[in-house]
Amino acid sequence: MDNQNETITEEPAAKKAKLQEKASSSGLENLLKTGFQQVVKAVKLSNGIPSEEERSYYSTYKSFNDNVSAQSDMVLNLMSHILKYESVGLSLQKRTDDEKFDLLQQCNDAALERVNSNLDIYAGAVQKDIHPIIIESEVKKIDITTKNAGSWNLKQAKETTDKETIAARLITAKNIARPQIKFNIPIDNSNNTPFIPKLTYKPNSLKPLAILPEYDEAGDVVSYLHPYEFELEKFEMPEEELQQKSPVKPAKVDVVELMHVDTVELLNKALEELRQHKMIAVDVEHHAYRSFLGFTCLVQMSTKDKDYIFDALKLRDDMHILNEVLTNPKIVKIFHGADLDIIWLQRDLSLYVVNMFDTHHAAKLLNFSRLSLAYLLKHYCDIEVDKTFQLADWRIRPLPDMLINYARQDTHYLIYVYESICNDLLDKSNQHGNLLRNVYQTSNELCKRRYCKPLFNNDSHLEFYRKSKHIFDNRQMSALSEIFAWRDAIARKEDESYNYVLPNHMLLRISETLPREAQGILACCNPIPPLVRQNLYVLHDIILKARAKPLIKPTLVGDAFSRVATKGSKDYDNILYCPHDLTVVEDFRDDLPTMLKIDKNNVDVNEIDEIAEKITYLQLPTVDVFEKMNAIYDDPLKKAIKEGCNKSKFKTPYERYLAILPQIEKEKLEEAERIAHENRSRQLCPSAPKVVVKEEINTENDDTLNVSIKEYLKRKRVESDGPSTSSKVAKMQSTSTLDQKDKPSSSKASLKKKNSTSHKTDKPPIISKDESRLNESIVTIEDESDTDVIVSTDVDTNKSNTNDNKNNFSSKVKNKFNNFKKKFKNKRKNKAQKSGQSSNVPVQNNFDYNNVDFKKFQGGSQRANGIQMKQTIHGKSNSNKAKNKKFNKLFTFSNVKSKK
Ligand code: AMP
Ligand code: MN
Ligand code: ZN
Repeated sequence: MDNQNETITEEPAAKKAKLQEKASSSGLENLLKTGFQQVVKAVKLSNGIPSEEERSYYSTYKSFNDNVSAQSDMVLNLMSHILKYESVGLSLQKRTDDEKFDLLQQCNDAALERVNSNLDIYAGAVQKDIHPIIIESEVKKIDITTKNAGSWNLKQAKETTDKETIAARLITAKNIARPQIKFNIPIDNSNNTPFIPKLTYKPNSLKPLAILPEYDEAGDVVSYLHPYEFELEKFEMPEEELQQKSPVKPAKVDVVELMHVDTVELLNKALEELRQHKMIAVDVEHHAYRSFLGFTCLVQMSTKDKDYIFDALKLRDDMHILNEVLTNPKIVKIFHGADLDIIWLQRDLSLYVVNMFDTHHAAKLLNFSRLSLAYLLKHYCDIEVDKTFQLADWRIRPLPDMLINYARQDTHYLIYVYESICNDLLDKSNQHGNLLRNVYQTSNELCKRRYCKPLFNNDSHLEFYRKSKHIFDNRQMSALSEIFAWRDAIARKEDESYNYVLPNHMLLRISETLPREAQGILACCNPIPPLVRQNLYVLHDIILKARAKPLIKPTLVGDAFSRVATKGSKDYDNILYCPHDLTVVEDFRDDLPTMLKIDKNNVDVNEIDEIAEKITYLQLPTVDVFEKMNAIYDDPLKKAIKEGCNKSKFKTPYERYLAILPQIEKEKLEEAERIAHENRSRQLCPSAPKVVVKEEINTENDDTLNVSIKEYLKRKRVESDGPSTSSKVAKMQSTSTLDQKDKPSSSKASLKKKNSTSHKTDKPPIISKDESRLNESIVTIEDESDTDVIVSTDVDTNKSNTNDNKNNFSSKVKNKFNNFKKKFKNKRKNKAQKSGQSSNVPVQNNFDYNNVDFKKFQGGSQRANGIQMKQTIHGKSNSNKAKNKKFNKLFTFSNVKSKK
């Protein structure tokens, strides 16, 4: 232990002694005085400890060494205690000097931070006039006209971009005191208690106030009922709403009176005024970055002749008196996009709304191209509002004028918008005013929503992981889950948002890279979040523990792959949402055959694949509306494709169904024939060898696409469970069962039973899902030379059947597959060589068959397998995309197993 460290270690030790003394010392001054003396003494003494050459000399004496190490142990122990107190929580003992130094710094930072915030509180309580220093930064819009937009509206775009270069204005301020610390009712971020409505008085009630708990099965309270649930149930749209309105455009913001409500007196005055009105526009501004749950900062209201801005931070405990107007069913409250506003109002201000009209939903019903308030203001009032302040830090007090003006805009014109939009809705409604009723109903449902605290459990990270679209191995998963839990705990404790503690993308980056060094964690973050810096070693410990775990095969099962798109998570408002983008749908697979005809006489399958590969790399559109036809025919490839397009006609699903009918009929007939044939031969000669049902692969039409079509059809038919198909199924099973020896006797018996009934009765035998899975096998190719990948039939017990089927495949398909396998293997070998040295780096970028537990590709879940393969292969390397696609197309995997 070197001298420098000794010096530092003495300091907190003295502090501790000082703290203990606190009880006896008379006041703060005394404490400081004695404390300071102690510190000076400690520093002096530690400077007295021999250093450098002198130290080397001293250290030749055993007694000196013993003494120093005993002292140093004691000091480190003491410091570890202090660290624990400062919630760093890690022991100092087994660290390198650098790490010790960092931990100390972390501890000091935390202490100083506390001092700082305590001083803030102190200053806030005593000194009123500390003005926050406003910081304004603008996020410029990217000028799309400088890019190669190539669009017909280029000119128009150029004209508008001059005005609209600012996408967002980030207004924040230095030294904003945390408003939370002044809340009378402390914030409850705990994970185990539900949100409790704090309403104590219920105006406009039809039922007396009752905050009724709801219990779970274990008898614990999970939530509380909505205090105005009954009133909302009873609410109906006032019939006078069905009359056309005569909207009067409001005067400009600067000529209308504004009441800035920040005292209880003003609040009462405002309430008296608001009572007189039949329509009130309402909006809420919220802050969520430096708070775990978030809090309401501002409430804006407008009547026809006045604007109100309520300081919701200051009047947090008094605002509830506005329930008088907000829950009055005779006064319509107009919101734009009220979902969150309703929640925020009830959570922070105990405000509830009865009789609400949401202009956002109204705009939806009118099929407006855009649903934002800015658009409605432009549409109805021809006003261009500046929405760039939306993300301002609404905690700033006193509120700057520009923020006040912005906030007013949100409600100032809203009554006019409401009246105009009501008229439009009535115009488009039936005689019952269906559209208008719809808006009221939907808005009423919104008002019934209850606030629920975000709860954390050990699986919380899985939802996040699913949405992230990353694929993690067990080490990365473990780190993700631990860091996620750490972030949640810190965020609740420090009352900060997840985003402030550790933004999602950084969390993912850290869990993905699993940096060996603590500095690596910082390298994953830019800018480095303060709480990450402070807790660096806690995070590092988590990562080291995750790294120490044995690497298991990548998490390929279930959850990871059903997460492509979870039902109900569709964000229809997202501009990126496209109902035709099937790749995000769980059922999607791109390896199924299509009904597009391929002229087999002219084009070889290989050729098609080659063309497909070329198409992927085309830089320009092949078929261009504006391109001259001559130009198309200049290029032989384009010509071929163009001709192909002309040949293949679009078929509707019904037409496709019709087209496939003859094929199905044909197969039915063949099937019936075969059964009849077998029956006949049985009758003639009972001891004759059994007829083996062969896979119906027509050697003439033997191309891979047909293999898949057959498989597809077969599977479809097994699923649909029709009489003819099920008899075929039973038939197939009967043959395979008779050859089997190691099949469990119970299922054998049941299959035999079916076998006997299937010929005699018309009733189709009932086939359980598992049994029908037996028949999902198609491609059976075994290659003794390849010990790694075997595409085999679905069921282990199907071996003899497998051998029979095996012979039915033409060598063409087989060769093709082998070629692919070879290519695949070589590629994999190269990859393995490349990644071989760095065993620390978790395998995830490239699909490595060595690491895949093929048992996890459970038979039957074909669909899932398709997605698994697709995801994993398509994963990161785009260059492989075309080849992999081809590979997928060739083989519909029934089951892929590693041979052991
Ligand atoms: P508004 O209804 O537009 O006034 O927005 C109300 C509150 O929603 C704002 O004070 C913000 O806290 C929050 N908010 C609105 N838009 C966004 C956004 N794009 N991102 C994050 N928060 C937003
Ligand atoms: Mn709003
Ligand atoms: Zn707003």
